[in-house]
Amino acid sequence: MKVAVIGTGYVGLVTGTCFAESGNDVICVDNDQEKLAKLHAGQVPIYEPGLEELFERNTKAGRLSFTDSLADAVAFAQVIFLALPTPPMEDGSADLKYVLGVANEISKLITEYKVIINKSTVPVGTGDLVEEVLAKHTTIPFDVISNPEFLREGFAVKDFMRPERVVIGTDSEKAQTLMRELYEPFVDSLDQVLFMDRRSAEVTKYAANAFLATKISFMNEIAQLCERVGANVDNIRRGMGTDSRIGHRFLYAGVGYGGSCFPKDVSALFKTSRAYEYHFDIIDAVMRVNYNQKLHIVGQIKKHFGEDLTGLTFGVWGLAFKPNTDDIREAPAIVIIRELLKAGAKVKSYDPEAMESIAKYTELGHTMVDGMYTAIEGVDALIVVTEWDAFRQADLTKVHSLLKQPLIFDGRNIYDLEKVDALGFTYYSIGRSVIKNEETIPTR
Ligand code: NAD
Repeated sequence: MKVAVIGTGYVGLVTGTCFAESGNDVICVDNDQEKLAKLHAGQVPIYEPGLEELFERNTKAGRLSFTDSLADAVAFAQVIFLALPTPPMEDGSADLKYVLGVANEISKLITEYKVIINKSTVPVGTGDLVEEVLAKHTTIPFDVISNPEFLREGFAVKDFMRPERVVIGTDSEKAQTLMRELYEPFVDSLDQVLFMDRRSAEVTKYAANAFLATKISFMNEIAQLCERVGANVDNIRRGMGTDSRIGHRFLYAGVGYGGSCFPKDVSALFKTSRAYEYHFDIIDAVMRVNYNQKLHIVGQIKKHFGEDLTGLTFGVWGLAFKPNTDDIREAPAIVIIRELLKAGAKVKSYDPEAMESIAKYTELGHTMVDGMYTAIEGVDALIVVTEWDAFRQADLTKVHSLLKQPLIFDGRNIYDLEKVDALGFTYYSIGRSVIKNEETIPTR
């Protein structure tokens, strides 16, 4: 099939590449010239495991190409995916200017039947708006359908190639047939392709993300309780997660959720509910808990050292909002670093993949270094913010010898309590007892 993907970011590039991998001819459109130059030079502009190999194979085979010409893409393709940004506006609702802007341009370009597929995460009713925009300029038949994307950054290729389900919101049989054909190579059974009305598909995406965010905030609240009652949140996760009704995933306490999706989607769902005169109580609480949780580790640091952190330097491990991505949008690390600097501290930071992304935050005022051990040389404490494997497998004896004092604040519970205790660290983590070591009792 001839496919166009508009927007070549985390979702668009993966979507386009994977559709090419299954034998389709794909044109990806972007208006970011820097990104296009990289793509034309054969470089993948984002870090996503497994993507480079597919990208290379399919560009070489001539099935995957890139352009800034929406007109060429619309003329070429029968199905047009919108994978455009839907960032939060100041009031927390989703900004639809990219989606509606491109819809408006497409309306002037179509000369035959097209299916316009919304892969961006958009509030309920956006499909209707896109349809209205298109209908203003054309009488040529088209279908606007909702096909929300559930891929996870860091596993995007795997998720796209083997999705647990594909949600398609449309009543059009013609569009349903095309979507079945397009997605058949990716699923074991067509039962995994769930057809529904467009509005339900739009809400499904928000409901899924809000539910996952709720699981995270719930565990962060359990962690808060654990710290007060002397229980261990890891044990509780094991005890709860083995209940198949609950499941193990998204039960990790930590520094709060971040990223390009959960924060904006949770807040957009709240805003949509408000617009329909419904106060979504649970979501309101989830957002509040998450805000406080990002600051919790800073609270632990201040409890240890006092409110004024002047004269202290911290080594931060992890800037990406989660491992296996270079994405730092809404990353808890940014909030934590900002708070530390505000309290007078200095920060040296390192991330295996996100150094280029964080470099854009010039106002942050931290020192970026090029190695995990360089970040902690002679600093007052190590702060773990992202649970990259390299940090999990760190040589803790070396960490001990490099730090000014053996002190770790671990926002991801990646170290074993007994092990860090035996090595003589003072160790703060989330929802677990604090391990105290005499050497690190602050002298200030
Ligand atoms: P992104 O910011 O990485 O990519 C968007 C791309 O669109 C950029 O490359 C940008 O240059 C391009 N663009 C903007 N305006 C354009 C225009 N007029 N013409 C052509 N290209 C244009 O965003 P993303 O993370 O890929 O997210 C896209 C959508 O998918 C969002 O709605 C997001 O919520 C949703 N989503 C994201 C993820 C994820 O993990 N990132 C997962 C599921 C759903």
